[in-house]
Amino acid sequence: MMSSLPPVKGDRIICELPLYFTRDAAVHTKDGFNVTVKEACHRHKTGLSHIGSFGWSPQNRLNVAKVIVVGDVGVGKTCLINRFCKDTFDKTYKATIGVDFEMERFEVLGVPFSLQLWDTAGQERFRCVASTYYRGAQAIIVVFDLSNYNSLDHAREWLEDAMRDNDPSSVLLFLVGTKKDLSHPDLLAQMEQEAVRLSEEIRAEYWAVSALSGESVRNFFLRIASLTFEASVLSELERKSRQASDIVKISNNCDESYKKRQSSCCH
Ligand code: GDP
Ligand code: MG
Repeated sequence: MMSSLPPVKGDRIICELPLYFTRDAAVHTKDGFNVTVKEACHRHKTGLSHIGSFGWSPQNRLNVAKVIVVGDVGVGKTCLINRFCKDTFDKTYKATIGVDFEMERFEVLGVPFSLQLWDTAGQERFRCVASTYYRGAQAIIVVFDLSNYNSLDHAREWLEDAMRDNDPSSVLLFLVGTKKDLSHPDLLAQMEQEAVRLSEEIRAEYWAVSALSGESVRNFFLRIASLTFEASVLSELERKSRQASDIVKISNNCDESYKKRQSSCCH
């Protein structure tokens, strides 16, 4: 039975690549989606390449990117996710218990795409986050609190933990400072300088946001959705072209051995 989902909300429809936060620490600074990706999506949308040949179907993992959120307890991970997914901010502190992930639906270049946003269930308090939480992530968000220097200091350790179960070549990294509304301008400038330096070193994209005011939260997640989408389409296209060239190689080999057999039997 086909389950019909409600249409994607208007503010989750992405037609242009959203801009990075700062040019100094961006995953890439191109001002548009990759041309190959754009063409592939256009072909897909106009029905020139049918869904199967592109690998897109509701069950296909290409439609969903797993995004994990890590960082010290209390830095604002849950508030950040709630601000984006539910557009709420709850001042009363509640440790996250038993939550696994929120699904957020988008449409990127006309193609349905979802982010599976994984929030820790309070395990970060004991630094015993399970490897099932980390495994198979397309993006890692390392969160620190812009008003708390120690939390930035711990960011590198969180990243190391998260990378242990992931392939560095296929994961996009984001370093995000939260509680921008709380941070004193002097401390903010100092923390940002340090965070940009760390982002360059670990090849992460840096963002500063506030879940309380909502500043930059939406742009941040739209950017994650766009970049993970772009990366999944590119890797799928690469996989398909590798498959196609393998088929050509196999058929060439078959031709060669056929020719050899023919020539040896005729002479
Ligand atoms: P988590 O343990 O990392 O999930 O942290 P929470 O999201 O539960 O937030 C911890 C505390 O920080 C809560 O008391 C929130 O109200 C507060 N908080 C989170 N984000 C912000 C923010 O952007 N601004 C301010 N002022 N407080 C925040
Ligand atoms: Mg939490």
